[in-house]
Amino acid sequence: MIARTAFEQILKEYDEKQLEAARELRERREQIEREVPRLKEIEDEIAGLSVSEAISRISGKALPGSYKDQLASLRAEKDKVLSEAGFTEDDLNAHYECEKCRDTGYVGNELCTCFKERVTNILYDQSNIKEILKEENFGTYSFKYYPEGEALDAAKNALQKAESFIRDFSRSEDNLFITGAAGVGKTFLTNCIAKELLDQGYFVVYLSAIRLFDILSDVTFGSFRTGSEGASSEFVKKHIYDCDLLIIDDLGTEMVNSFTATQLFNCVNERILGKKHTIISTNLSLKQLQDNYSERIFSRIANKYTFIKLLGNDIRMTKKLEEN
Ligand SMILES: [Zn+2]
Repeated sequence: MIARTAFEQILKEYDEKQLEAARELRERREQIEREVPRLKEIEDEIAGLSVSEAISRISGKALPGSYKDQLASLRAEKDKVLSEAGFTEDDLNAHYECEKCRDTGYVGNELCTCFKERVTNILYDQSNIKEILKEENFGTYSFKYYPEGEALDAAKNALQKAESFIRDFSRSEDNLFITGAAGVGKTFLTNCIAKELLDQGYFVVYLSAIRLFDILSDVTFGSFRTGSEGASSEFVKKHIYDCDLLIIDDLGTEMVNSFTATQLFNCVNERILGKKHTIISTNLSLKQLQDNYSERIFSRIANKYTFIKLLGNDIRMTKKLEEN
């Protein structure tokens, strides 16, 4: 499954990055030691001095006054022999792609920004979203496809709600539930919001409902890489439950059963509790949501989501007709 491969791929990438940094350092170190044989001796002498320093600290016996001078002169010599051979002190350290997390993906218990970006890219790459967002954003949003009257009013109202959702994003706990028939611009509007928040540096995860349940079922039924289920579910939890904005596109297109109903509730509920924003777009009416999923999902969404309803003709069809 695509989802599983993507998650495994990213975990593996980080493992490989760390191994690569370590391998590079080892090779560089060997080369430096070959070209600067004196380096090892200096380092041993510095280490020896540090040991004497530690012993004297513990035993309370004072070190000879020359200790600091010796250390300083060894360090100066180290710099000198390195630079004479064309190296710097920094060449003795591992070089990471991301110095913040040293390619582990974590800074303390928090996910590093590099990791979030990578996940965003990987999720978005697969649905080709980066290309789409170049076309579908507030800059290209147009009312011209909405017929005068009810549909146009609804579109204007939707735009207003989307804009205030973005404006208040950092301080509100708002979520959006976008309904409407196929082709009335739900995904377009969602893309506009996603682009804006991605540009502001938020961690946005965009999944079709089908993909979302695919990933959640992989995690639940443990079909992730053997031996790493714990890490993988932790990983998925981090992204699906904890990202700044989760977009669930086209809810209702997946196979609805008790598993998906439970998973959807957990996901919606966890995110509300964690004060994280979610956007759900769907062709379903509220009545269908209530009938197809469960009363408790319906009530969470009814209480915690702002509703946006789009009306009008199928814009994709209209565009196609214009092109021909
Ligand atoms: Zn990092």
